[in-house]
Amino acid sequence: MQQQRNYNHLLHTIDVMIEDAVSDVKQTGKKISCTKGCSHCCYLLVEISWEEALLMAEWLKAQRPKTQEKLIANIHENARLAREVFSSYKSTQKFIKPFHGDLKMPERVYGKYFYHYEIPCAFLVDGACAAYEVRPTPCRLHMVTSPANLCSRNEPDDVEGYEIPDRLEQVKEDIVPITSAFYKDGRWGQLGVMVKAALTYLEKEHQNK
Ligand code: SF4
Repeated sequence: MQQQRNYNHLLHTIDVMIEDAVSDVKQTGKKISCTKGCSHCCYLLVEISWEEALLMAEWLKAQRPKTQEKLIANIHENARLAREVFSSYKSTQKFIKPFHGDLKMPERVYGKYFYHYEIPCAFLVDGACAAYEVRPTPCRLHMVTSPANLCSRNEPDDVEGYEIPDRLEQVKEDIVPITSAFYKDGRWGQLGVMVKAALTYLEKEHQNK
C-alpha cells in the first residue's frame, strides 16, 4: 500500500514535469501531435522497470475477471512474441526474461520488433490504453511534434522529420534521479515479458500465504 502511494506520488510528479514541458513546447509555437486514438507508439518496444511491471500486474489483478482474462492472454502472447524477437539475435537472448544490468538493447532489435513483427502492446484494446492510469513512464514521455503519420509503421524508420521536442528529452533526463530512487530492484525489460514475470511472482506470493 505504501509502495502504491509512493508510486502514485512519483507518477504525479512526472506528469507535472511533462505538463510544464508541454506548455513550454506550445509557447514555441509547436504542437504536440499525440492525441487519443493515435496508438502508433503502442507498437514500440517499451522497456519498463520491475516496480512498474509489479504495479501494472497488481492493477490487472484488481480488474474484473473478464478484463483480467483478456489482458492476461494478451500479455502471454505479447511476451511470447517479444521472446521470439530476442531469441533471434545472440546479443538479445538475455532479454527473454527480466534483465539485471546496465546493458542497452541493440538498436536493430527495436526496428525488427516494430516493423517486422508489428506487435501491439498487451494493454492496447480497441486502439486505446486499457491501463492508462498506470501506464509506465516511457508511455507518458513519448510525445512528438512531427505529424502523427510519421510515427506509423508504414513509414520507413529512416524517415526525416520525426521529432521529439528537446524539452521532453530533457524531462527524460531530469526524472532519472527520481525514478532511480523508486526503482530499487534493478531488473528491467520489455513490457510484456516484465508484466508476465510480475504476474507469476504475485501468484507465487499468493500461494505462499
Ligand atoms: S501501456 Fe498503454 S500507453 Fe503504454 S504502450 Fe501499452 S497500451 Fe500504449
